[in-house]
Amino acid sequence: MGNDDHRRRKTPCGFCMSVFKWIPVLFITAVIAWSYYAYVVELCIRNSENGIGMVFMLLFYHISLTLFMWSYWRTIMTSVGQIPEQWRIPDEEVTRLFRADSPETQKRILNNFARNLPVTNRTMNGSVRFCEKCKIVKPDRAHHCSVCSCCVLKMDHHCPWVNNCVNFYNYKFFVLFLGYALVYCLYVAFTTLHDFVQFWKVGAYENNAQGQLNSGGMGRFHILFLFFIAIMFAISLVSLFGYHIYLVLVNRTTLESFRAPIFRVGGPDKNGYNLGRFANFCEVFGDDWQYWLLPVFSSRGDGYSFPTSSDQSRASATTTAVASPVQRYDAMGETASSSKKQQRPAAGRATGSGGRRPHHSSSQV
Ligand SMILES: [Zn+2]
Ligand SMILES: [Zn+2]
Repeated sequence: MGNDDHRRRKTPCGFCMSVFKWIPVLFITAVIAWSYYAYVVELCIRNSENGIGMVFMLLFYHISLTLFMWSYWRTIMTSVGQIPEQWRIPDEEVTRLFRADSPETQKRILNNFARNLPVTNRTMNGSVRFCEKCKIVKPDRAHHCSVCSCCVLKMDHHCPWVNNCVNFYNYKFFVLFLGYALVYCLYVAFTTLHDFVQFWKVGAYENNAQGQLNSGGMGRFHILFLFFIAIMFAISLVSLFGYHIYLVLVNRTTLESFRAPIFRVGGPDKNGYNLGRFANFCEVFGDDWQYWLLPVFSSRGDGYSFPTSSDQSRASATTTAVASPVQRYDAMGETASSSKKQQRPAAGRATGSGGRRPHHSSSQV
């Protein structure tokens, strides 16, 4: 979070706003807690006829719930980080920038400041991208988030359902969260389908031994609503998850799908980071397949510079020896100042800034 956000939280209004922003997360958590009660207590325990079957149902239920909650938690709690000092424009340069008499002068000041930074993205007028609020040169694919009040690396979008920016550090967790939420909803819907059909066939009251709306009858209603809610969430998750799988496979963020990034060489290009489906997938999920389905950090790169499709074309034209995908990734996206020199922000929200992360294919829980 940026300094502005910290300042805003100190005022009563700012505090209310930060509490208000957690309401969607609390809503989702309440729905999950209720679904747990309805599924485990009302469906499996009170309604158990087939003991072995129920054990397997509960086992798969808890596995899908654990993966779902784990990825949801990591999406929420992973910090957007802080852009290191070398990207920050000194005050005297900022003053010169604001007092510049023409866009050309501004462009010259910015290009001069960023000459040793690994930036290839440009504005419409060909200038290095600059954030007026954070007073920094924006790294490639980074954007300013007005909700987080800071510039965010490889920003995808700000998601109110996780009260966090979906960005370089948590994009893998976000995609897994959507995937596991879909698996959870489909599993719950599939295993409650039988009771749902029975409800309409036999009737809520007749199913109950006493023939009245006591706890057994209410249990039926819990299962009925559980089926409805699981189907409702599954329908909305299918489209969202499918869209993000598509974005992963073409190596594009949601923001880039609306507005193509502009490159120093080549201009606007929506496919500028598209390296091929498998390489695109590995850029988000990492090179070690053992971590692909777990919400642990394994994305490639440092979030400041990214190999481009034109880098790839150049590399394949000049490389005579056969190199591994990781070697090719390392060879791309290098500039005068290597991205490996960038200091990386800390992973957890609670850990603050200035931490370091290991590079390629590192995994953190
Ligand atoms: Zn900013
Ligand atoms: Zn944000």
